[in-house]
Parts: sequence; structure tokens; C-alpha cells
Amino acid sequence: MNGTTGVEIISPNNILANAMLRAVDMVRPRLQAMGPDRVAFCVGTQINGAPHLGTSLVQTAAFLLAKATKRTFNVDAVVRFGALDNAPYDVALDPETHHAYQQTYFHALGADGVEALISKYYRAMFDSLADATGVDYEIETYSAQQTDPAFRHEFLATLGRLEQIRWPLAPSHGQVHLRLPCPECGWSEKRAERTRLLRTGSGGADFSCVCSDHGKYEIAVTADNASYLDLATLYRNLVKERLAMRDPVTLSVMVKGGDWAFGCQLVDEAFAQLPGLAPPPRVFTPMVLTDTGAKLSKSLIREGRLPAPPGSAAWMLDVTDWSGDTDSYVDTMVDLVGRMLADPKHFYRSYTTQEIDRIMSARPAANAAPRAREMNLFRRYFELVASGRKTIEVRVQYPNLRKLAAGDRIRFVCGRDEALTTVKRVSRYTSFEEMLDAEGPANVNPDSPREQQLANIRRIYGPEKEALGVLAIEIELERPTTD
Ligand SMILES: [Zn+2]
Repeated sequence: MNGTTGVEIISPNNILANAMLRAVDMVRPRLQAMGPDRVAFCVGTQINGAPHLGTSLVQTAAFLLAKATKRTFNVDAVVRFGALDNAPYDVALDPETHHAYQQTYFHALGADGVEALISKYYRAMFDSLADATGVDYEIETYSAQQTDPAFRHEFLATLGRLEQIRWPLAPSHGQVHLRLPCPECGWSEKRAERTRLLRTGSGGADFSCVCSDHGKYEIAVTADNASYLDLATLYRNLVKERLAMRDPVTLSVMVKGGDWAFGCQLVDEAFAQLPGLAPPPRVFTPMVLTDTGAKLSKSLIREGRLPAPPGSAAWMLDVTDWSGDTDSYVDTMVDLVGRMLADPKHFYRSYTTQEIDRIMSARPAANAAPRAREMNLFRRYFELVASGRKTIEVRVQYPNLRKLAAGDRIRFVCGRDEALTTVKRVSRYTSFEEMLDAEGPANVNPDSPREQQLANIRRIYGPEKEALGVLAIEIELERPTTD
């Protein structure tokens, strides 16, 4: 057919895709059962150097799934980014026992060093993804999460069944990788061969461990104390997912790379050994494969153990090699993952680097829509914008709005309706009163008196949000669109 582009993806049917019309329908059963106020799409990434294509794909999928959830199910949705700063920074072998010891990124770099890494590799990309999708995000490090008394309590509650869960968490030997760093040096035994649970009770638990430099030490873990609790991957996911499922207001959906589908079998096995909670819904995203069918691995290629596969580009292994700016990278990712999400057959499968290269190269540049931030509006405000009667949009100064400037485009969204606008001016105020006095209430909302507007805005934004600063965004309607 003339006029069609070469971007078309061909995917066979599969059992999961055959059962649903939209990829995001994976979320629907639990939404129906629970009726939450909002949905948090949770994505965890090891903070250990530059991200690769697989990382970006999972993160982009989380934002696009959140956007699709808002539209499809009319419920608020956010992205929660878990920055896993307990990734090993350095590993050393004990000269006598040959047990591996490791130091986490957190212990090697400190909280400030980890924050610098997050800023360097992720914050600009997340700001851009938030703009492009209209989805807000939160970042939490593992080190911050493990200080949360609720997280620690959830961990302590599993210890009463340690005898049962240690087999699913470590099926080959039953020795769970529970790392409690040495108080002297911050290193811990990677596979916890000599870590023992001494006693556990309602107040907490005591462990004994061995440091290769400082010998035997004991660690107490309570809900409130400061001992660092480094749980290996499967155990961490068990505790994190169980804690998430206790929240009656927010439904957590875990977004994970496709290789996790195998690993989650063991997490589910551990869930089944503990009382009372079902695992959260999980969405597994497409894996990026080499031509051999193996997952694209930066380290194997860098070590020379595998050649770079056909169709792979340097940026696929290290996204900082992308030749354009962050927005152009995010736009490309949003287009790519958007095409995958368009049909469950295209989403619940894997892609070779060659096929991804083909899809991206075939993307018609002329069709690329102008970049616009998405902002969601309640229906009554959306109608005012779409009719051109509302020319001042009010927001508080969230971090991802700090670069908003004249000439930018904003696509206002309400359900399936959209209105594309151009920013004419951005003015900053210290309070809503100051903003209304300067801008004129009729420009913010021609149908509502000043005092009423003030009350409505303060219902949306509490005092702590107002304290971030108030933005008046003058907009001009480009063309009302509806899809
Ligand atoms: Zn030590």
C-alpha cells in the first residue's frame, strides 16, 4: 500500500496478548478489585554507571503505562523510580576463605555522591519524560528506603518464616544473601556465607557476621535503628512488594525488564510461604536481544566476549553516546516504546538490536509531532482552554517546570481530548494572591470570581506546594485537537 511507512511491526500472537486488547489492561484486574486513588508504576534501576537501551526502555514504558492508565481508567498515575544504590561498587576476595566481599555505591560514594550520579544519568531524562507524558515522578534511593521503619518492619516480619522463604530466595543452598555491612569499614560478605541469625522477636533481630579485615561482629536490626540493611535482589523485591501491597490508597505496579519474568517465579514462591498478601501486578517490558537471542549485555561486549550485534549502535550500550540532546533521545524512546505498547502482541515479546534499529530508522521524520509538554486538566478548565477563553494557566513550580519558557508548547489533556498551545510568557510569584492580583482573575478563569478561584486553587495545591512558588503561564491556543 502506498502511503504506509516501513515502521510496521509484525508480531505473532501469544497467550497473554490473545487475552487482552491493550497492553495496559494488565493493570485492570487489580484496579477493579481494589479501587485505588492512584497507581504508582515502580521501576528500579541499579545505580552503577551509564544506562543502556534496556534501562531506558523499561523507564520509558513506566511513563507511557502511567499515561495510558490515566486515560484508560481515569485514575491518577505516577512513576516511582527506585535508585538501587546498594549495587556493588567494588568486590574483593578474602585471601583465606575466597569469600567475596563487596562495598555498595552508597558506602563508597555517600548519599551526595549517589545523588550526583542520579542527577548525571537520570534526572534530565525523567524531567523530559515527565514533560512528554504529563506524568509526575518520584525518586527514592534504596539506602533511603531501607531506613523507613515500615520497610524494616516488613523485613523483620519475614524472619519468623526464614526457614520457609530461604529456599525460594536461594534455591541452590538456602543461604539468603542478607548483607549487614561491617561497622568499621562498610564492607560485607557478598553471599553472606558466615552471616547468622542469632535471635529474632517482636523487638528486632540480632545477626552475627564476619569481616575479612575486622573479624566477627554483631548487628542488631530494629524498625528504628540505623544499621544498614542490604538485601540481595530477590529478598529486596519480596520485602518491597509486600510493603507496597499494604497500601490501600495507591496500587503499586512493578515495571520490570522481561528477564525478570523468570526471577519473579521465585519471589512468588516466597510470597506463598508468607501470610496474607498477594504479589502486586507486574508488567514485564520487551527485552533487547543480540542476534544470538541473548540479552544485550554491555559488560560482555566491553570485555570482548561477545561482538557488538548487528544493528547495534554505541548509544544502545551507553545512552550518553546519543548524538542529540535529552529531549530528542526521549522523543525517540517515546516513539519506539509507544509503537510497542500500541498492541499487546508488540509489547509482550522481545526485540533484537537489528529490529529496533529498523523501527527507529524507518520512523518518518516529517511525522514527528512538535515536542510539547503534556499537562492534565479537569474538564471544566480544559473546556476554557480549548475554547481560548482561559489564557493563563496556573501551576506551582515543580522541579520539572523550572525550564518552562516562552516558545515552548503545552498539550493540555483531559481524557481523550487534547488542546495544543504555545507558551507566550511565564511569570513567577510567591503566592496565589499575588499572582491573581497581577494577572487578573478573569484571565485565569472568566467564569469564576477571585475569592472562589483562590479557594479552588488552594484545594488543589496545599501550602507546602504553594511554597514552591507560583507560575502563571500565558498560553495561546494553536489548534484544538481531539483523538
Ligand atoms: Zn570491616
